[in-house]
Amino acid sequence: MSRVYNFSAGPAVLPEPVLKEVAEEMMDYQGSGMSVMEMSHRSPEFQKIIDEAEQDLRDLMNIPDNYKVLFLQGGASQQFAMIPMNLMKNGVADYIVTGQWAKKAYQEAQKYGKANKIASSEDKTFSYIPDCSNLDISPDADYVYICENNTIYGTKYKTLPDTKGKTLVADVSSCFLSEPVDVSKYGIIYGGVQKNIGPAGMVIVIIREDLITEDVLDGTPTMLTYKTHADAGSLYNTPNAYCIYVCGKVFKWLKAMGGLEEMKRRNEEKAKILYDFLDESKLFKGTVEPDSRSLMNVPFVTGDKDLDAKFVKEAKAAGLVNLKGHRTVGGMRASIYNAMPKEGVEALVAFMKKFEEENA
Ligand SMILES: *Cc1c(COP(=O)(O)O)cnc(C)c1O
Repeated sequence: MSRVYNFSAGPAVLPEPVLKEVAEEMMDYQGSGMSVMEMSHRSPEFQKIIDEAEQDLRDLMNIPDNYKVLFLQGGASQQFAMIPMNLMKNGVADYIVTGQWAKKAYQEAQKYGKANKIASSEDKTFSYIPDCSNLDISPDADYVYICENNTIYGTKYKTLPDTKGKTLVADVSSCFLSEPVDVSKYGIIYGGVQKNIGPAGMVIVIIREDLITEDVLDGTPTMLTYKTHADAGSLYNTPNAYCIYVCGKVFKWLKAMGGLEEMKRRNEEKAKILYDFLDESKLFKGTVEPDSRSLMNVPFVTGDKDLDAKFVKEAKAAGLVNLKGHRTVGGMRASIYNAMPKEGVEALVAFMKKFEEENA
């Protein structure tokens, strides 16, 4: 067996101890004689798995009691519709467009009401986070929407926008559990788990209880109503049971690692190794304004498309895979999520140095 350093933006690298544990439990989960994949979601064994997963997530993020944790399907993209369907009581919402995912959410919301683009960084290919300290918030906005870490462009909010009292909704798909957050500042925090937590196929929604109501837009399907899932403890229908199980293992791994303060320390340390090199390199250049840099997704270019392609190809041969940038940005992108060890980033930088010397 030989493992590579996988810099994919998602689905992405998982912690090796977690992969080993789930492999060991594949044929016989804790004496049940079956895999979690084969288990009823109504069984006491599975109820314990989902309860522990929720509790461990609550511990990690310090989630206040007046928030529900929902394990849902449909990915992060389904939330682009579910959020307006459930929250647009006045039919108005404000969107800050800092990349493709925010833009998609903004466009989807227009199907359900008046979505206002109150700030954007599209003028400079989303390479920065706009100043959100004094935005023109709509007086009747039901919520203000952000994508907190922009997976494709590698930017992250360092301070949350001043929403002037309006409910903040945040897509945190690619920075979920990368550092501590104050959940009480948000109405909804949600993210697809395939970036920084677990396998693909699930989104976790952390939602303040007063936002969970029966008063949703006309025609909202039962399955797209938060209350349906909140009332049923995420077991209204068959959930992505195996994904919940693997995510639960990742939560335990994070706790054992020292929790989110420690993850933040590690993530800052890893990102610094890469950004410091990019700042001094004569060949490679980071594409993001320094004060907006993400700890998780690091895009960079050589400025020469052919050389970029050569780099991606040679890196792959050296066991450093999935470094090709998003098709809309080009160049390279290294996603260095929680499960990427520091050694992986060091190996990448050593390879970049060597490539720079060879191609000077
Ligand atoms: C990947 C990603 C999405 C889309 O996730 P799906 O689960 O594929 O729908 C949305 N938002 C962000 C920030 C992402 O990184």
